[in-house]
Amino acid sequence: MNETEILKRYWGFDSFRPLQDEIIRSVLDGNDTLALMPTGGGKSLCFQVPALVKDGICIVVSPLVALMKDQVENLKGRGINAVAIYAGMGKREIDILLDNCIYGKIKFLYLSPERLLSDLVRERISYMDVNLIAVDEAHCVSQWGYDFRPPYLLISALREVVPEAPVLALTATATAYVREDIVVKLAFKDPKIFVQSFARSNLSYVVAADEDKHRKLLSIAANVKGSGLVYVRNRRETSEIALFLQRNGIAADFYHAGVERETRFKRQQEWKQGKIRIMVATNAFGMGIDKADVRFVVHMDLPESLEAYYQEAGRAGRDGKRAYGVLLANRSDQMALKARYSDSFPSIEEIKKVYHNLGNYFQLAYGAGEGLNLNFDLADYCKRFGIGVMKAMSALKFLEREGYLTLSENVFLPSRLLFLVSHEDVYRFQIENAGYDRLLKTILRAYGGTFEQYAKIQEADLARKVAVSFNEVVKQLNFLQEQGLLSYLPQTDQPQLQFVRPRTDLMHLDIDVKYVKLRKKILTDQIDAVLTYTGSAICRSKQLLAYFDEPDAEKCGVCDVCLAEKKAEEPDLILDKIDFEIITLLQSEAYELQDLVPALKSGTEPEKLSRIGELLDAGKIKTDGKNYYL
Ligand code: ADP
Ligand code: MG
Repeated sequence: MNETEILKRYWGFDSFRPLQDEIIRSVLDGNDTLALMPTGGGKSLCFQVPALVKDGICIVVSPLVALMKDQVENLKGRGINAVAIYAGMGKREIDILLDNCIYGKIKFLYLSPERLLSDLVRERISYMDVNLIAVDEAHCVSQWGYDFRPPYLLISALREVVPEAPVLALTATATAYVREDIVVKLAFKDPKIFVQSFARSNLSYVVAADEDKHRKLLSIAANVKGSGLVYVRNRRETSEIALFLQRNGIAADFYHAGVERETRFKRQQEWKQGKIRIMVATNAFGMGIDKADVRFVVHMDLPESLEAYYQEAGRAGRDGKRAYGVLLANRSDQMALKARYSDSFPSIEEIKKVYHNLGNYFQLAYGAGEGLNLNFDLADYCKRFGIGVMKAMSALKFLEREGYLTLSENVFLPSRLLFLVSHEDVYRFQIENAGYDRLLKTILRAYGGTFEQYAKIQEADLARKVAVSFNEVVKQLNFLQEQGLLSYLPQTDQPQLQFVRPRTDLMHLDIDVKYVKLRKKILTDQIDAVLTYTGSAICRSKQLLAYFDEPDAEKCGVCDVCLAEKKAEEPDLILDKIDFEIITLLQSEAYELQDLVPALKSGTEPEKLSRIGELLDAGKIKTDGKNYYL
């Protein structure tokens, strides 16, 4: 099948969107390709379609587990075989999936970047027939970018394993600098680059300096109909603002990564369906959420970078209809932003301390911990050691770059189970251990094929069927695991931290001082760009586009700056109009004043009289005391 047939057959779409077909062509011709398209532009199809045209498997590197899971489900729903490997999965589980990629008919293997650290993963990939490496959110490869993920740098090593496979890098935000960096860091040969304009003509960007932000928010909600999204800085504020909106009769709710998973999912659905009108959230909300009719996105605080702002505000108006991106930023916020960043940037000593404390937190002996995967509660860690969350996070990123550990965001993994011995051995065990007979029988009956692949299980469900408590089921499963009968991976909803190297003492902990300095400079530049954006009277859209290397963009005509300009021009415009009408009328006949004034359509009565006086003074019209004429 060719690419158009694939598009029709699997997605039911008749035609490609702008640039999609050019990008797909380039990939099919075997070129290393960089594609820049705004969010919602349809980047996924650019790698999914060519991968289906060709034989073999496409490896997709993606930074967010939630996005990966979404796409895998989506592909499966279209009858396409796809799998994902990410932090928190067991060794054996990963093993099985990789095997299937080598021997099976799997078309897409999604990987979170830190998986590339593993020799096992790289070795197995060398046996795969890889037709394409797709790098989603490719700006993560660049330390100049706003969302640098050190493990992305491992992608070039992956290329050496499968030298024939072209690379397609995709992103929705990248300055000229970052684009160049992507091409270098991904070792592109003869790169083909496609860039779609980032202009969003239906989106009206507004910066409002109101002191009373709550009142401003209410007035936005009152004046703009439809769904809204409000971004705040921290978790506490999400609930506060949501409550405030509710008290004012607006259906609102809140969302952040700490809300329990099912509740989070439910709220997200309700917002998508319009049952909740306004969602108040941290920046954890939004990635991969496809809602076309968001009418406004309000930021209650300054964002950390224009890249982040463009992404978040860009969630408004995907349907092409009028929408607003409002940034509430007064003078004190601007100073606070600067202070917050210099305060939260760790020193070398603090980075080292974070590492040291981490070892203590997990009670690791020196030299131990290599390859260890741990649930990591950052908030709890910070509380224990009295360090700010931002600073700790930033220190962890440095440690990640130095290759000491990897960190992934919250991952929900249901409980899973795999028998490690044969049917016969399980049967024998049942006979010898009558106390476990019921549980084993129930598992075999409920989840039949758990001998080749991990099966999802629900302990609560098992507990009900076996008529014991939840805790008893967990206890028995753990016992069976100790006996080597099965492998049991309990459910988790925590960020995952992996020690890549054994714990080292502070003497031997290496941190690249120059690099830390460089990061500080980059962060400072990003913040300065945000401050410039809010502070200058240049069309907001022009400013954003210039930042993304589109220097010659037109004024948008709908941002607060453009609207203010129009307003300032308007009085003159009206007077011009009145003049024009007076002259036109008098051209055909003479008028008495009492008839002339009501015949003029533009302006108020005083304005009309004043224009008539002006034109008389200028000698452009005449009067004999009664009639007015030219
Ligand atoms: P991005 O990754 O650029 O943000 P996605 O790949 O998630 O965007 O696509 C956004 C939406 O656009 C998806 O719902 C997708 O099905 C839809 N889409 C993509 N390409 C086409 C097309 N050629 N015709 C119609 N819809 C498309
Ligand atoms: Mg995407």
